[in-house]
Amino acid sequence: MKYIYLQPYGMIPEWLLGKLSQDLAATFDLAVKILPSRPVLDEAYDVERSQYKAVEFLTDLRKVAPRDVEKILGVAPVDLYNEQANFVFGEAELGGQAAVVSIYHLADPDESLYYARFLKESLHELGHTFGFTHDRNPECVMSFSASVSEVDRKGLDFCQPHYQLVADPQTLEPEDRQISSYLEGLSFPAAREEIIKYAINLRAPKVVLEEFFKLPALGKYNSADEVLETIEKIDRYNFPD
Ligand SMILES: [Zn+2]
Ligand SMILES: [Zn+2]
Repeated sequence: MKYIYLQPYGMIPEWLLGKLSQDLAATFDLAVKILPSRPVLDEAYDVERSQYKAVEFLTDLRKVAPRDVEKILGVAPVDLYNEQANFVFGEAELGGQAAVVSIYHLADPDESLYYARFLKESLHELGHTFGFTHDRNPECVMSFSASVSEVDRKGLDFCQPHYQLVADPQTLEPEDRQISSYLEGLSFPAAREEIIKYAINLRAPKVVLEEFFKLPALGKYNSADEVLETIEKIDRYNFPD
């Protein structure tokens, strides 16, 4: 049996973690365990910015993850940043195990609003660990939010194609041959959305769709080979926000 672990850093309200563990268990169909709190990472603190470097938390989470980990989500009370942004709500390993979310910008006296934001950003960061990049569908929890008002605007859950992938997580990496068979007959150049739509029409299995979801949405792909090469290169890196 594998678990989603929640790793609080410093003081995180217990009710937030309790509610989140129930909702994550229901969404991902995995058991969730809350680990004892760890001190906020001193080594992540940037004196000049008065903020904490998000990626340091991913390094720490990989270190502390128990053996039976499926995913581990750090929950930090401090203001996180990465090099590309003034601040981030979180950061995750794309297609990996570790993700971190910050409650710093999410707090609100209205507890249900506070929790909704926390749930959305937690699902979003965990979605990255399932290999999902950003979704242009503004309803989907995988859509990108640069501000709290954008967090409030997006939906509380994954869109249908993303949800199908989440409901049946499949860790096997599909063969290139299998991926390319769902690109046969597609006319290139093709954008990411066209590739995904085409594969869905051909009833591509979830493992294959998951690979196409990893593609950057920018520009068009000129050939099936270019799609495969892009998937190959993208396979594992830290996904900001
Ligand atoms: Zn989506
Ligand atoms: Zn993101």
